Amino acid sequence: MSSAPSDTYTRWLVAYSQYAGLQSHDGDVTCPGCGGADFGLVFGAAPNQIRGRAEFWCNRCMVGTLRYGVAVVKGFPVLALDATTEDHTKLVPDFTTVLGLE
Ligand SMILES: [Zn+2]
Repeated sequence: MSSAPSDTYTRWLVAYSQYAGLQSHDGDVTCPGCGGADFGLVFGAAPNQIRGRAEFWCNRCMVGTLRYGVAVVKGFPVLALDATTEDHTKLVPDFTTVLGLE
């Protein structure tokens, strides 16, 4: 009846790595929750920092992950850490965060 949250989280981490181009994959990267293939990925980092926050979500079921201390991947939007809520909302929708032990 219960599914271990860590399993779901692990699948999100894999989807993240594939979508960000850090891990090879065949075909489309699909959402661990709904199977969709429409994702968003926005980093948050101070200027010229190579590590920061990553927000990764599925645009279909609006579930995703929030990670800290990850390498910023070129080619994806980067928000300043002091960005206003308004600026943040323009790029990142309100999604449900899958939490895991990391
Ligand atoms: Zn989904």
